[in-house]
Amino acid sequence: MDIRYTSTRGGESGVTASRAVLNGLAADGGLYVPQEMPKMEVSFEELAKMDYRRIAFEVMSRFLTDYTEEELKYCIDSAYDEKFDIPEIAALKKEDDAYFLELFHGRTIAFKDMALSILPYLMTTAAKKNNVDEKIVILTATSGDTGKAAMAGFADVPGTEIIVFYPKDGVSPVQERQMVTQKGENTHVVAIRGNFDDAQTGVKNIFGDKNTAALLQKKGYRFSSANSINIGRLVPQIAYYVYAYAQLIANGGINAGDPINIVVPTGNFGNILAAYYAKQMGFPFARLICASNENKVLTDFFRTGTYDRNRDFFVTSSPSMDILVSSNLERLIYKIAGNDAAKTKDLMAALSGNGQYTITDDMAEELEDFYGNYADEAAVSYEIASMYDNTGYVLDPHTAVAGAVYEMYREETGDDTVTVIASTASPYKFARSVLHAIDAEKYDELTDMEQFDALEKVSGVKTPEAIEEIKEAPVRHNITADIQDMEKTILQILKIEK
Ligand SMILES: *Cc1c(COP(=O)(O)O)cnc(C)c1O
Repeated sequence: MDIRYTSTRGGESGVTASRAVLNGLAADGGLYVPQEMPKMEVSFEELAKMDYRRIAFEVMSRFLTDYTEEELKYCIDSAYDEKFDIPEIAALKKEDDAYFLELFHGRTIAFKDMALSILPYLMTTAAKKNNVDEKIVILTATSGDTGKAAMAGFADVPGTEIIVFYPKDGVSPVQERQMVTQKGENTHVVAIRGNFDDAQTGVKNIFGDKNTAALLQKKGYRFSSANSINIGRLVPQIAYYVYAYAQLIANGGINAGDPINIVVPTGNFGNILAAYYAKQMGFPFARLICASNENKVLTDFFRTGTYDRNRDFFVTSSPSMDILVSSNLERLIYKIAGNDAAKTKDLMAALSGNGQYTITDDMAEELEDFYGNYADEAAVSYEIASMYDNTGYVLDPHTAVAGAVYEMYREETGDDTVTVIASTASPYKFARSVLHAIDAEKYDELTDMEQFDALEKVSGVKTPEAIEEIKEAPVRHNITADIQDMEKTILQILKIEK
């Protein structure tokens, strides 16, 4: 089956997967979605025997149908190799009453590595297939983890430049240090005076600016995106939900065909959307539990049908979820509107106009798959401490948001379906908040470096390579810019004059 992509806002359709990967965002500002949802057509029993790479191939080959088998296998084998610190690539661990799907065994110890280690290969392969010979400039807004993972993936990849924008006061110390020490002549990092939403909107505006696109083209460049708006990020993420389901069968946690629930700590709605797509492919995922932190715009949306970004923005201990405009929700909106691009376009116009929209009752009925709730900072801290006390397992604050929301869900519904919690970051990435939750008096006064050693003792998990790397690495990036100067900064970096 040949799967083509269409923009959620109706301006483009019949786009091949490789073109969609290259473009990132559709020219009308919409997001690419598959025109038809492929089915898995491989039995659960067979999947249970496959390793991660094989499952990734089974999933991706059904979405990225204009890539040859050889091309896809090359991308998969190049991405999912020794860069990951376990041969399984992702790990499923039962702790307390849920399974934690550890997605943080890649180079930057957050789940973004699962997709961003393969995106550069998908993109350069797409460029070759489509005879694109301009240099690809990846623009990326980051709430902390995407930027590093994208740079690690694209560093020194021929034919690419990557520019990352992060909110100056909105990322953890480890996240910032990981970014400003990034190696690679083609990597560029800009701290902006604003929050993640400002950065993301800025990037989207630059993408949508036809004059800038023309100017770049004249100089031999074209923009693309490594954010989860790129279908090349979303599709690889579907693979690990399939892998988790297959592993549960393989290890006897469930029988083939049994339903499971999935809990996802959510920001931009990319990760949970991948679980939703897996469900559409035919996997028996019962509830998709959308866990938010104090920036609970999605919780309110699932409860009321109104998405409203007009509210206070909180900086929390789970910075990668400090987001008020969840870009990928647009793909869900399109789906529940019955693939109605005009309706989607209207709602998105309302969002950028007065900051809110309300879905119709018909659309709300399509949301029964989802449950939304949020954990405040006290609940997150309590979750980290109580999980540690009960099991010795140490959660990072993002995963703890999910754990806390799962507890709320169980209490509210009594549902004891087997549940997988997407574990999105290593606790090392947020050592200070984690140790503070476990025992503030004992650990708060330690220096950053001492904290890593303490965490090693507390968790029994060896300090990951990603942390060892940043201990000594020199700072290579120090640009700071205002939001309104983002475009100017890009042109300066690329040495383009207007
Ligand atoms: C990006 C990120 C999230 C949020 O994922 P979305 O796909 O944006 O919803 C959650 N946790 C961590 C650690 C992240 O890096």
